[in-house]
Amino acid sequence: MYIVKDVYQYICNSVPSVPPEIGGILGSMDGVICKCQIDLGHPKSCGCFYSPNVDILNRTINSWKKDGIHFNGLFHTHFFGVQTLSDGDIAYINTIMHAMPSYIHKLYFPIVVLPEKRMVPYLATRNGKTVDIKIDEFIIV
Ligand SMILES: [Zn+2]
Repeated sequence: MYIVKDVYQYICNSVPSVPPEIGGILGSMDGVICKCQIDLGHPKSCGCFYSPNVDILNRTINSWKKDGIHFNGLFHTHFFGVQTLSDGDIAYINTIMHAMPSYIHKLYFPIVVLPEKRMVPYLATRNGKTVDIKIDEFIIV
């Protein structure tokens, strides 16, 4: 996962260091993440895990398109140094991957681990009906 330094620092410095979990979307150009939109979550969320506000995120994704920026994935925060994906995370990653148009076969789902403010770059790849999730290389440009 290639990410522009300013975007990486912006995310690490903007996410609240106390619960609830929040998240946001990532946009890329030429394979490099160069844009993000932080999402405080769905207003009716229980607050125990990140639940995206899909309406706001879709509006952002559409406005990015005009600037040639592609939707490239979703990040969210985890507390207490937890860097593994929860069952809920894996479920929503699968749902999103299967909902994507066929030309999108990979997306990033990084976790921002708190309090360390460290990003763990999960990459989901769709192969037909299955979705593989693994930790990708992390390169700040
Ligand atoms: Zn999670």
